Amino acid sequence: MDIVDEIIKTGRILMDFGMIESSHSGNISAREGNKFYIKRHGKMLGYLGRDDIIELDLSDEEGYSEASVEVYAHRNIYLKTDAKAIIHAHTPYAIVMSMLVDKIEPVDEEGRFYLDYIPVIVAERAVASMEIAEKLGEIMKENRVAVIRGHGTFATGENLDEALKYLTMCESISHISYLFHLHKG
Ligand SMILES: [Zn+2]
Repeated sequence: MDIVDEIIKTGRILMDFGMIESSHSGNISAREGNKFYIKRHGKMLGYLGRDDIIELDLSDEEGYSEASVEVYAHRNIYLKTDAKAIIHAHTPYAIVMSMLVDKIEPVDEEGRFYLDYIPVIVAERAVASMEIAEKLGEIMKENRVAVIRGHGTFATGENLDEALKYLTMCESISHISYLFHLHKG
């Protein structure tokens, strides 16, 4: 299985796990050396074909206009961190929690075992902006997952499997925390 097949498989898993809140949202990429592979703009993450993944260069912006609108966020994370894979999705509970708290703290033991907290990034322009790209490049040096307030989650890893683990973990932590606080009052 090559990197393109792995991106397609990851998109299907995200859909199966309910991480894709609307049909055409979210994006996935993976890095190989100075190249990265990313979803083409306007394609459905859960139903990707090989032609829906494009190969781009980290040091040359040719072809960027065909990529996901978050392509600059992906590039800056690759340039500033050790990430080899990135997933971005509009995970509903993480989005809601990001609008209620300054950082998302796990209340469940599984979540606490892995993460002390998940940072929330606040931006004036929270979608497809250089502001987001720059803030993510800094915060992902020290974190595998962060949530853009009111927008969605970015997770990274040494491979797509690890990025998937952190993205779904963030949504699980957010879901449990939301329900806990709802009942606790
Ligand atoms: Zn988004």
